[in-house]
Amino acid sequence: MKGVLIMANYNIDTICVQGGYEPKKGEPRVVPIVQSTTFKYETSRQMGDLFDLKEPGYFYTRLANPTNDAVANKICQLEGGVAAILTSSGQAANFYAIFNIAGAGDHVIASSAIYGGTYNLIAKTMKNMGIETTFVDPDISPEELDSKFRPNTKLVFGEVLANPALKILDIEKFAKVAHQHGVPLIVDNTFPTPIFCRPFEWGADIVTHSTTKYMNGFANSVGGAVVDSGNFDWTKYSEKFPGLTTPDETYHGTVYTESFGKAAYIVKMTTNLMRDLGSIPSPQNSFYLGVGLETLHLRMERHYENALALAKHLEKHPKVSWVSFSGLENDSQHELAKKYLPKGSCGVISFGVVGGREAAVKFMDSLKLAAIVTHVADARTCVLHPASTTHRQMNDEELLAAGVSPDLIRMSVGIEDVQDIIADVDQALEK
Ligand SMILES: *Cc1c(COP(=O)(O)O)cnc(C)c1O
Repeated sequence: MKGVLIMANYNIDTICVQGGYEPKKGEPRVVPIVQSTTFKYETSRQMGDLFDLKEPGYFYTRLANPTNDAVANKICQLEGGVAAILTSSGQAANFYAIFNIAGAGDHVIASSAIYGGTYNLIAKTMKNMGIETTFVDPDISPEELDSKFRPNTKLVFGEVLANPALKILDIEKFAKVAHQHGVPLIVDNTFPTPIFCRPFEWGADIVTHSTTKYMNGFANSVGGAVVDSGNFDWTKYSEKFPGLTTPDETYHGTVYTESFGKAAYIVKMTTNLMRDLGSIPSPQNSFYLGVGLETLHLRMERHYENALALAKHLEKHPKVSWVSFSGLENDSQHELAKKYLPKGSCGVISFGVVGGREAAVKFMDSLKLAAIVTHVADARTCVLHPASTTHRQMNDEELLAAGVSPDLIRMSVGIEDVQDIIADVDQALEK
C-alpha cells in the first residue's frame, strides 16, 4: 500500500536482494512473517483515525499487513512504480486492476493474445458484470486501434509477453493511442518480469503480475501484484474516473486523488476492493514470494540462456517441425524482442514435433527430467501438450482456429543444467 522508494538509486539486482524492507535497530534482518489478522492499539481514538484514513497504520490484515507490504514494496521498486499491492492470485490482480476503474456500463479494449484465464475473466465474468470488451489483434495498426474506442472506454489491457502465444505487445503503440483517448494502459508483465522489461519506461501506466510464476520461482504459492506508475493523471479526465476523483461516501467523503495523490489508484483498490472482496495473500505466502524475489535476477538470466540454447538445438532437429521463441533471429517476434526485451524474454518456448498430435503425446510420455504439469515458469523444466490436456475437447480443426496446433508442445525451461535438458528432449524425440 505504501510504495516508499527507499532504494531508488540502486540497480535492479540489488533491489531483488535488498529492496522493500529496511530493518531498524534490533529488528529482524529477514522480513518477518507477521501471521496476525489484527493489530493492537491503546485508545479507540487511535483506531478510529486509522479507519478514517487519517493515520497510516495496520489494523486488519485484509487491508494491510507488514509482510505483504514489504514484499509489495520490493515489487514496486523493481517495476519503478509509486505504489503496489499484493493479491491472492494473478487472476485477482488482473480483475482488481480493471474493476478499480471500470464498472457496469463501461467498455474495455484488450489484446486478444492473453492468458486463457484472463480471457475468460474479461470475456465472460466481467461481461456478466456489465463491462463490455473489444478484443484486438496485438498487430493492429494505430489507426484501427483508434477506431475501437468509445466514449465509455476506460482502459486498454494487454500482456507484455503473452502466455502461451509468446506474442510481444508493442507497448509504445498501445500506450500512445490509449493516452490520446484519456485512458491508461494496463499490462500484465508476468513472463518477462521487471528483470527483462520495465513497462513503465515504455508508457504503460499500471503493471500486473501473476507472482505464481517466475517471481515466486519455485511453484510453492499462488499470488499476484498490481503496481501503479503514478504517471496517469486521473484528475485530467475526472469525468471518466469518478471513483478516484469524487468523494467516497463509504470513507467519509475521501477524494482519493486529493488525499493520496499519485498513490490514489492503489489506495482506492485497498480501501474498496480489498475491503469488499478480500483477495489478500496470506503473509506466509508473501514470505515465500519475497524469498523467491531475492534470486529473480539470477534465475531469469539462466531461464533465458537455457531456453535459447534448447530453441537453437530444436531448430536444427529433424524431428521438430517448427520452433517459436523470440530469442531466435528468424522468429516472428524477434524485432519487437530487440526493442522491448533486449536482454532476454523468459524460459518458455513452443515447438511442433513431426507426426502431429500422436507423436506429440509419445514425446511427452517419453520425457524423464521434464515433468508434465499445467504450471509454467518455475525452476523445474516442465511441459504441456494443450491438444491432449487443456484443449483436449477440441478436434484438430477447432484447435487451429484457437491458434493451437495439434503438435504444439509448450516447454517451460528450468534452471537445471542445459545439457541434461537437451539430452532428455533428444531421447524423447528419438522415441
Ligand atoms: C498464470 C497467469 C495468470 C493467472 O495467474 P494465477 O496466479 O494463476 O491466478 C495471469 N496472467 C498470466 C500472464 C499468467 O501466466
